Amino acid sequence: MLGDRNLRDIIEKTFDRLYQDLDVKIDKANPDQIHAIEASLCMRLAYYERRDPLPADNITKMSILLSHGMRKALNNAHGEYKMDSLALQVDADMIIADEFVVRFEVVPELPEVPHPRHMLYLNACLFALGKQDGFLIYMTGDGKTAEFSITKSNKMFEEIVRRARVLSTLLKENKVPIVEPSDLCLNCKYYSRCYAREKLKEGSGDLLDDLFGKLKGK
Ligand code: SF4
Repeated sequence: MLGDRNLRDIIEKTFDRLYQDLDVKIDKANPDQIHAIEASLCMRLAYYERRDPLPADNITKMSILLSHGMRKALNNAHGEYKMDSLALQVDADMIIADEFVVRFEVVPELPEVPHPRHMLYLNACLFALGKQDGFLIYMTGDGKTAEFSITKSNKMFEEIVRRARVLSTLLKENKVPIVEPSDLCLNCKYYSRCYAREKLKEGSGDLLDDLFGKLKGK
């Protein structure tokens, strides 16, 4: 019979294996292949993931496994946009009527407007898959949805290509990209590599009390 500990170890190892199996589409050793996900999120994060990765925590693994499970149930479309030696890779979730590219994003709360990084990514899919229009569909865990349509934009594509080229160059030169402050940082596993945090010295336990105490004493 399996004890609690053994069962937990087996489950964690199974999740680890499944999670590693997901990580196959990007050839991380090849800086001339950049996935649009890498270029649309944080370049520093993408660099660390390729060159000096930290293991994902269990919450991250579970959320990636769940969204990957949802994506696998759809008829994914992989594409590539070639420019000189650089290839920008994309994976869309669906193509409807051979015309509209669809990308789902699972979020805790529905946004009022689409997030720029999701638009950059979907726009890259439109170019790589040779389509004109796409839909970005946000879904929450309890089944609420919000849909946005986007039309192919040269300006947005220039931006993701610029970012992909910068990432490719920095990978070749072994230079870590600069910090890109955003909402992603709050839950990023590389937070401590990007932002120095100093623990406050033991005091009254209340920073404001300490500060005002010092001011009053002047
Ligand atoms: S903490 Fe922010 S800047 Fe640093 S790697 Fe993560 S997302 Fe990028």
